[in-house]
Amino acid sequence: MEQAEKLTAGNLPPLKDLIACHECDLLMHHPHVGEEQKACCPRCGYELVVHRSHMRRRALALVLTALLLYVPANFLPIMSMDLLGQNAVDTVWSGVIGLYHSGMRGVAAVVFLCSMLVPLLKLLCQLFVLLAMPYASLRPLACRLYRIYHHLREWGMLEVYLFGILVSIVKLIDLAELHLGVGMACFIALMMTQVWLEVTMSPHQVWEALSEEGEDARN
Ligand SMILES: [Zn+2]
Repeated sequence: MEQAEKLTAGNLPPLKDLIACHECDLLMHHPHVGEEQKACCPRCGYELVVHRSHMRRRALALVLTALLLYVPANFLPIMSMDLLGQNAVDTVWSGVIGLYHSGMRGVAAVVFLCSMLVPLLKLLCQLFVLLAMPYASLRPLACRLYRIYHHLREWGMLEVYLFGILVSIVKLIDLAELHLGVGMACFIALMMTQVWLEVTMSPHQVWEALSEEGEDARN
């Protein structure tokens, strides 16, 4: 781990050689980091730059895994419940439909947006950005989509949804017989894959690869 070099008064280097800390706005020389190394802000310790080896290939594998998990996570049973002789099987999608038909259309829309639509859009943005890296003609669109992806991050709330499921399991476990379904395993796997993807897809490497000069990051 390196510490980025602080700037002193005097002749400033070109703008592309400077980096500002996201947390405390300290302006520094852009640190040069090797494979699997990172540089942190000397003032607040924020991780400025991290360089993952074979970032594009690893991230592509994770995006495709997440997209494959997306369908079973949302459309296969999260859990089944036996209550007073009645059996109910629930998926994320049937939850949204159930909320809609019980009159809670606003809640249904929020659940659909945060646990189904936004996570899918995020994955599609990431997939396009990774696929577009080697093609100069696609990079302007990829830049726009990567910016949109950063806005969407605030709206994707799989963790909150999972937490909701866990709370309902704890509440229902004494009242009914619960069986966790394969959808639940896929949902947890999808969440873990997304977290892993966020760690792997280092933003500065992506921006560098999408800029005209970034040749080394496109592998
Ligand atoms: Zn800082």
